[in-house]
Amino acid sequence: MTVITNHLPTEDLQALDAAHHMHPFTAGGELAGKGARVITRASGVFLTDSDGNEILDGMAGLWCVNIGYGRDELAEAAARQMRELPYYNTFFQTTHVPAIALAAKLAELAPGDLNHVFFAGSGSEANDTNIRMVRHYWSVKGKPRKNIIISRENAYHGSTMGGASLGGMVPMHEQGSLPIPDIHHIPQPDWWAEGGDMSPEEFGIARARELERAILELGEDRVAAFIAEPVQGAGGVIVAPDSYWPEIQRICDKYEILLIADEVICGFGRTGNWFGSQTLGIRPHIMSIAKGLSSGYAPIGGSMVCDEVAEVIARGEFNHGYTYSGHPVAAAVALENLRILEEEKVIDHVRDVAAPHLRAAWEGLADHPLVGEARIVGMMGSIALTPDKAARARFAAGAGTVGLICRERCFANDLVMRHVGDRMVISPPLVITPAEIDELVARARKALDETLDAVTAQGLL
Ligand code: PMP
Repeated sequence: MTVITNHLPTEDLQALDAAHHMHPFTAGGELAGKGARVITRASGVFLTDSDGNEILDGMAGLWCVNIGYGRDELAEAAARQMRELPYYNTFFQTTHVPAIALAAKLAELAPGDLNHVFFAGSGSEANDTNIRMVRHYWSVKGKPRKNIIISRENAYHGSTMGGASLGGMVPMHEQGSLPIPDIHHIPQPDWWAEGGDMSPEEFGIARARELERAILELGEDRVAAFIAEPVQGAGGVIVAPDSYWPEIQRICDKYEILLIADEVICGFGRTGNWFGSQTLGIRPHIMSIAKGLSSGYAPIGGSMVCDEVAEVIARGEFNHGYTYSGHPVAAAVALENLRILEEEKVIDHVRDVAAPHLRAAWEGLADHPLVGEARIVGMMGSIALTPDKAARARFAAGAGTVGLICRERCFANDLVMRHVGDRMVISPPLVITPAEIDELVARARKALDETLDAVTAQGLL
């Protein structure tokens, strides 16, 4: 049997990949014809592919490699833990030191009284936990009918049945008979695409009041919780107008519903604080966490839960859990990642150095003929591509056509930048230096210039 290593020619790796590997969010047939890009190693903010190209990772993997690639300390932490206790579960009245230590550390870092963690293997699993936990919470409190969860159109909360149901992605709902019952979606606060003639501030209030309208329509006695990302990530880095979150908080405070902040992307420094809720001034009862918790070095997620909800859940048995809840190796890796974030003052670096530098450079792209708005919070940014800035117009060719061209031009310039429809998004490792930010934005501008050429040549303007 052939031993499959980095040393095989790219075409051979691609052929094996096409024959046996089903990729997430990918048209498999199309990819098989083209061949996947094979990433072989990475260091800092740069990836290397099987042809030796050095690619600047403007997405930190999938918004997760917050401390950057190649940190030996995490490999050591994993190896140490694997030798000592590679696995034990946290069911049936048992625990282990990595889970204890990580839970205590998270309680220290989380805002408010979010002092409790229910571990999961991913962000999707964390959100599945949240659905069951909030419904069970109200049931224990004698309100079993209070089980509807309100979410938002174009939200992303994962790919499991529960996570994808909470999410507001229509193409996901179209596959697999989603959403599951008792999930309700309200419109998103995307002023650029949907704000019409309203000012951003008016629009922010109007969209927050959609929550109040839904609560009144459905009945306060039916609504268990509202879930939202502090900044919508996979939906295109949609930053709500400043008026939005205070109004959402007011509504959540007024009606008896739980607020769940999905911090899977925003958590662990991405917005310039430990959690996006702190940046946006939100006081959640539950936070979903994953990704930056381990900087993606090991799969781990969880739900951070406030004292009151945890106390109610603890009254009886919560019939829920994953084999890998609090996995010792993943927990040890996460702890080491948190130590690095803390001791190396990575979040100070974001707040004082990287985010201000990135903001200036990123907003500078707004002068490009294709760029409508450039938005950024901390280290997550987006630009809207448009044929007509003043009209905030869409391309006639259909959403995503020009975004895809731009993403291909980014690839050709050794930059990973993702497209969501015709929005381009970035979310680089938090440890990126000012010089690397300049390089990222220079490559982005070159890709935009080439996109403009292609779009003009194809008559798409
Ligand atoms: N919530 C949010 C806000 C996310 O961005 C994601 C992943 N992109 C998830 C949940 C799902 O996380 P996972 O892919 O780890 O299941």
